[in-house]
Amino acid sequence: MRLRNITGADEIIANSEFVIAGPSEHKGHWKEYWHNENELHIEIGMGKGKFLMEMARLNSDINYLGIERYSSVLLRAVQKMEQAPLPNLRFLLMDARELTAVFAMGEVDRIYLNFSDPWPKDRHTKRRLPSRQFLQIFDQVLTEKGRLEFKTDNRPLFDFAMEEIEPAGWKLAAATYDLHQDEELSRGNVMTEYEEKFSALGHPICKYMIYRDKEGR
Ligand code: SAM
Repeated sequence: MRLRNITGADEIIANSEFVIAGPSEHKGHWKEYWHNENELHIEIGMGKGKFLMEMARLNSDINYLGIERYSSVLLRAVQKMEQAPLPNLRFLLMDARELTAVFAMGEVDRIYLNFSDPWPKDRHTKRRLPSRQFLQIFDQVLTEKGRLEFKTDNRPLFDFAMEEIEPAGWKLAAATYDLHQDEELSRGNVMTEYEEKFSALGHPICKYMIYRDKEGR
């Protein structure tokens, strides 16, 4: 998702109380930032923030951070938060490649990847968020029991993601190729903006949940 450059977006974001400026200052101290001991869940590539806003509303005992690299997209999430602010949700304008500059080892309890950009060309595999290169970065910020959940309607991307799990040193907890027909995995499912759009077109939604295979190393 990349929207047209919006005049003033950078300034609005820089002045927004909902976007954390200089997030690396909080590395290793995120619990102090929130003033509580609650779990921290992050969505990488959150787009306009629909999923996280609903999650934060439903789970007031979890802290959420939405990560998005384009200010034109993040602006939409900021505008929605201004209408209905949530104390347990904040945003970061950054690239997921910089994750270890912002989070210390074991600071993140869960990572959500929803409808990540597919980067279909072979030479771009490293840019795919569920690639082994990114899994290695995620590995450095998750807690021991941390989990990563990935949803997409893009079957080639999902097949690629499934093949990356083991070589990256992770393990599959659960997976489905048709989330909305899966009674167990769809329980409590919160739809993302893209999920609503593509499931309305009849696309089945794939989902996996994975964790680090600490014993396998
Ligand atoms: N998660 C939302 C949903 O499911 O509706 C948005 C999906 S959209 C296809 C993917 C988003 O991920 C885009 O807004 C894009 O800018 C963002 N993104 C892609 N790669 C990223 C990266 N390396 N770091 C941060 N954001 C990224």
